[in-house]
Amino acid sequence: MTSTLNDIETLHHLIGGEAISTANRTGAVYNPATGEQTGTLPFADTTTLGHAVDIAAAALPGWRATGMAKRANIMFNLRQIIVARRAELAAIVTAEHGKVLDDADGEITRGLENVEFCAGLVHHMKGESLEQASTGVDVSQIRQPVGVVACVTPFNFPVMVPLWMVTTAIAAGNTVILKPSEKVPSAVLWLAEAFREAGLPDGVLNVVHGDKETVDAILDEPRIKAVSFVGSTPIAKSIYTRAAANGKRVQALGGAKNHMVVMPDADLDAAADAAISAGYGAAGERCMAVSVVVAVGDIADDLVARIGQRIKDVKVCDGTTPGADMGPVITAASKQRIEGFVAGAAAEGATVVVDGRDHDMPTTGFFTGPTLVDNVKPGMAVYDEEIFGPVLSVVRVDTYDEAVELINNCRYANGTAVFTRDGRTARSFKFDIEVGMVGINVPIPVPIGSFSFGGWKDSLFGDTHMYGPESFNFYTRRKVVTERWPLPSESQITMGFPTN
Ligand code: NAD
Repeated sequence: MTSTLNDIETLHHLIGGEAISTANRTGAVYNPATGEQTGTLPFADTTTLGHAVDIAAAALPGWRATGMAKRANIMFNLRQIIVARRAELAAIVTAEHGKVLDDADGEITRGLENVEFCAGLVHHMKGESLEQASTGVDVSQIRQPVGVVACVTPFNFPVMVPLWMVTTAIAAGNTVILKPSEKVPSAVLWLAEAFREAGLPDGVLNVVHGDKETVDAILDEPRIKAVSFVGSTPIAKSIYTRAAANGKRVQALGGAKNHMVVMPDADLDAAADAAISAGYGAAGERCMAVSVVVAVGDIADDLVARIGQRIKDVKVCDGTTPGADMGPVITAASKQRIEGFVAGAAAEGATVVVDGRDHDMPTTGFFTGPTLVDNVKPGMAVYDEEIFGPVLSVVRVDTYDEAVELINNCRYANGTAVFTRDGRTARSFKFDIEVGMVGINVPIPVPIGSFSFGGWKDSLFGDTHMYGPESFNFYTRRKVVTERWPLPSESQITMGFPTN
C-alpha cells in the first residue's frame, strides 16, 4: 500500500494495478483546515480513460468466471484490512475533506457495512428456479454481471460512497472504473490498494481522476455499460440524461434538503440535541444532514432558544484536534457561498439568530461556524437552495398537516424525520410523507447495510437505490433459461407458439 499522508503530493491514476501519471491537465488538492495545497492530481482525458476501459474490459472474462467463494473471500480480507488500518484511512479523509476524525471513522464503519453485506454474495447472487414449469420443462433465472461499469463519487464521503458502489459492482462480477471527487482523491487510492492486498486481480478496479471532461468521456464510452453517480442535483440529472441516451443503465443520486419536524409533544431537549448533531455534524456537508427544522405549534420559541444555547459549545477547529465537533468546509468557494446565504437571509425577511461567521474558530483554512436562521419560508434562497454547509433554518407552522405539505412540496426528497412521543402521529408521517428515507425520532435515517439507500424526486434519478439488495439488481442482468431434455422419440414439429 503506497498512499499515506507523507506521499500524497503527486497523485496518480491506478489502472491495471499500475500507478499512471498524466500531466496535460491537473487539479490541486487542499487541506481545508489550513487552506494549503497538499497534492496535485492528474485529470484523465479520453485516451487515459480509453486505456482504463481496455484494461477493465480485458479483466472482465476472468473476473466474471471467478468462483463466488473466492470473491467472498476477497470481501472478508478487505474488511480485515480496513478494520486493522482504519485510523490511517480516517486520517487521510480528515486531511483532504476536513471532517473530524471521529466522523471520518464513522464513515468507514458505514462503508464497511456494505463490504460485510457483499461478503454474503453467494446468497445475493443466487438466482431462482422452477422445476416442471411445464411438462418436462424447467425454468431458472441466473444473475450475470453487466460488464464494465463506472462509479462517479462526491467529495463528502470519500470512503463510504465508493465502498457502497464499487464493492457491490465487484462482488457481482463486474469490472470497474472509479472516478472519485477531484477534491478528495487519496482515500480512494488507499481503498484500491486495499482491494489489491485483499486479493483482487489487477484490472478489476481502476481509478481514474478528473472533472467534467473525464466524466463526459465516461458517459460517451460505449464499452461502459452502467454508471452509478452521487453528487449534486443538476449534475445528477445531466448524467442520468446523457448516460441513458447512450443506452447505459444509470442510477444518479442528487442533492437534498432534509426537514426535521418537531411536534409539540416532542422531548425538546432531545430534538435540540438532534438538530445540532444532524445540522452541524460534518459541517452540514452530508446529503442526510438536517437543514430545515419544522417547528409545529407553540414550541418554536422554546426550541429555537434551546438550539441557540447549544451552538456556542460547538467546538469548530481542525478535525485532528481532540474533542473537535466540526471542521472546515471543503473549499474557499464553498465557504464564500455558504456565508453569502447567511448574509442574504435577513434581507429576505428571515431572522439570523446565530451568525456562524462570528463563531470562535481558526482564521486559517475554510472555516465557517454554525448558523441558525429562524422565520424561514419557501421562496427565500436560504430555504430553496441546497446550501450544503452548517446552516440550520427553522420554519414555523401551526399544524402537522402544514408540516407535511411543506415537505411534500419540496423538490428534494432524500431524508426526513419527525420528533414526537405519539405513535399515531409517527405512523401517519410514515404513510403521508413523500421522501425516500424517514426517521422517527432518528434525525439521520441512513438505512443499515442490508437495506438500500436512496431518495425520491430530485434526490434520485433512476429507479434503483444504492448498496444493499437493490444494488445487486443494478449491477446484474437477469437471464432466464428454459430447458427440456426430451427423448428422441418425443421430438415433433409444432408450429404454434410454445405453451405447455
Ligand atoms: P458534485 O455534483 O459537484 O460532484 C460529484 C461528482 O461529479 C464528482 O466526482 C465531480 O468530479 C463530478 N462532476 C462535477 N461537475 C461535473 C459536471 N459538470 N459534469 C460531470 N461530472 C461532474 O457534488 P459534490 O460537491 O462532490 O458533492 C456534494 C453533493 O452531493 C451535494 O449536493 C450532496 O447532497 C450530494 N450527495 C448526495 C448523496 C445522496 O445519496 N443523494 C450522497 C452524498 C452527496
